[in-house]
Amino acid sequence: MAKKTIADVDVAGKTVLMRVDFNVPIKDGQISDDRRIEMALPSIKSVIDRGGRLLLISHLGRPAGTGPEPEFSLSPAARRLGEKLGKPVSFATDTVGEDAKLKASSLKDGDVAVLENLRFDKAENKGDETFASGLAELADIYVNDAFGTCHRKDASMVAVPRIMKQQGKSCVSGFLVDREIQYLKDAIENPQRPFIAILGGAKVSDKIGVIDNLLKLCDRIIIGGAMAYTFFVAQGRRVGKSLVEQDRVEDAKKMLEAGGEKLMLPVDSHVGDAFSGDCNKQVVDGEIPDGYQGLDIGPKSVKLFADAIKGAKMVVWNGPMGVFEMPPFDEGTKAVAEAIAESGATSIIGGGDSAAAIQQLGFADRVSHVSTGGGASLSMLEGQKFEAVELLDDK
Ligand code: AMP
Repeated sequence: MAKKTIADVDVAGKTVLMRVDFNVPIKDGQISDDRRIEMALPSIKSVIDRGGRLLLISHLGRPAGTGPEPEFSLSPAARRLGEKLGKPVSFATDTVGEDAKLKASSLKDGDVAVLENLRFDKAENKGDETFASGLAELADIYVNDAFGTCHRKDASMVAVPRIMKQQGKSCVSGFLVDREIQYLKDAIENPQRPFIAILGGAKVSDKIGVIDNLLKLCDRIIIGGAMAYTFFVAQGRRVGKSLVEQDRVEDAKKMLEAGGEKLMLPVDSHVGDAFSGDCNKQVVDGEIPDGYQGLDIGPKSVKLFADAIKGAKMVVWNGPMGVFEMPPFDEGTKAVAEAIAESGATSIIGGGDSAAAIQQLGFADRVSHVSTGGGASLSMLEGQKFEAVELLDDK
């Protein structure tokens, strides 16, 4: 069932606690990429433009959880938000302490405050009820607009809305979460065919569950990146010193059996004798010689994959085809990104590296949806239900 969004509730004069994903990269107090703040603006503006009093909560990075750590403070994010909104945004130096209560009670209609990093307290990751109660009592309405964290059971994601619901308060989704869920749900429930999944990146272990489920949903699964080499080993092929997860070879064998023709692996590899852009390189078919490691898919694989993508009506992509941070081993990832952009298929790009690649290449406007959450979008494709979303109010 569809969930209510922030547009469905009257926020005038009410205090709204909105869980956002302001987990932006910060170095020396400077934000290098503020897309996550930008993406939260529609929900933020919807509240303040209608006279709501907005309290924003988020995590940032992975602090120890034993108290404030300046490098993980959300105060630069609050400043940046103020610049974007063109109005002052106040900042509380805690989450459930005196300052948060003071900032929350000082809000006037249309005002915004950001609370400090939720993860400065271990209670957040633990889903702690007492911590959640402290947050819940600050507001009248709860909004989840943090898609990247929806697969987790952190206090701010699950316990807070559960408690607020018990108190008879509205708990709804933000526009970003709503859009993300719509796209991915549609892909899972009404796939346009042929439906092709492209998986890459370093680890098979992260993607085992998703491959399993995608084998049921998709017409074809393309596997690239270092992941492919674990499958090569499962096929008895030599991989030199490529990255391989030995403890996943058996799983890869089972998937090869279950997948049959559906699974497409690279037919050639761009290999190097060291993990470096200026190592000795060559393109090899099939097997990888000793002393070399596979760092990207080769040109024949690019052609094979691009041809398959060309015929697709729907594509989901998660994970680069090679070490795309290190040219020339970015070529496979670039070519796949281009093939997706040109295919005309409904395309959903998982967060993280594939989203970064599509953005860097300037193709973001030519795909249907770039997800803000790599882990969360994979979990959805794996068929998981998110408690953080399930418990929001139904339409
Ligand atoms: P993941 O987080 O699992 O999506 O993996 C992303 C990372 O996989 C990127 O940093 C890539 O550089 C890396 N990667 C992709 N292909 C290879 C490869 N053939 N060898 C080593 N690392 C790779």
